[in-house]
Amino acid sequence: MKLTFLGTKGYIDHSSRRHRMHASLLVSYLDRQIMVDCGSTWQKKIEKVDPDAIVLTHFHPDHAGGLIDGAPCAVYATSQGWDKVKDQEAFRNIDKRTLVPESAKTIKGITFEAFPLLHSTRAPAVGYRITAGRVTIFYAPDVVYIESRNKALEHVRVYIGDGATVTRSMVRKPKDTLIGHTPVQTQLTWCSKEQVPEMIITHCGSEIVASDERKLGAKLRKMAAERGVKVQIAHDGMEKVLR
Ligand SMILES: [Zn+2]
Ligand SMILES: [Zn+2]
Repeated sequence: MKLTFLGTKGYIDHSSRRHRMHASLLVSYLDRQIMVDCGSTWQKKIEKVDPDAIVLTHFHPDHAGGLIDGAPCAVYATSQGWDKVKDQEAFRNIDKRTLVPESAKTIKGITFEAFPLLHSTRAPAVGYRITAGRVTIFYAPDVVYIESRNKALEHVRVYIGDGATVTRSMVRKPKDTLIGHTPVQTQLTWCSKEQVPEMIITHCGSEIVASDERKLGAKLRKMAAERGVKVQIAHDGMEKVLR
C-alpha cells in the first residue's frame, strides 16, 4: 500500500509551504488509487489527481467542498453523510455510493470500513479502517472520539490522526452545534492503548502550521516515546510505502 498525503491542512486560513492543501489522502495499491476527502482547495484540481474513486469522511467544506463542480469518478460516503447534503445543488450530479458503518466494502481492490466518530453534530463523521494486501491503517482527520475504538484500531499499522491541536482540548460550540478535535496527545494515548505502533499527523491546525516544526517534532516524538509510539507530522506531497 502506498500513501500519498495530497494535503495536510485543517480548516484554517493559515497555510505554509508544507501545509497548503486541505487534508486528503491518496491510497494506492496495484495501479488503483483512491482519494480520501476532497476539501475546497481541491476544487478544479481533482482531474490532476485522477483517482479511481473518492471516499469522504464527512461533509465539512475542508473535506467535501472540492466536489462543488462534480466529480470525475464515483464518490462514497455513509447515508448519514449524504443525507446532510441531499438538498444541495452542488452534489446533485455526483455518482453517489453508500457505505454502511462497520461493514467492509472493497473499492478497486482496497477495503474500506467506516467507523462512526464523534466530531460534529451537524456533519456526522466517520474514520476509515483501510486495508490493502497485508497492511491496515486507520484514517481519522477530524475526531473527538472513536466510538468502537478497540475494533477500529485492532492490528492497525499506522493511525493517521487529527492535528488540529497538539495538547489543548478544542471543542467549540458555535450556536447549537458542536465541532471538536481531540489533541494529538490524547490520540497518541489511544495508539498506545490499542497497540498501534505509529501515528502520522495530518489535518494540521495553526499550532503546527505556524510553528517551527523541527522543535515541535522533537516535543511530539518525546510525547510519543513516553507512550511507546512513533510519530511524524505529514506534509503536502509526503509519501509512505507500507508492506
Ligand atoms: Zn476538517
Ligand atoms: Zn470537520
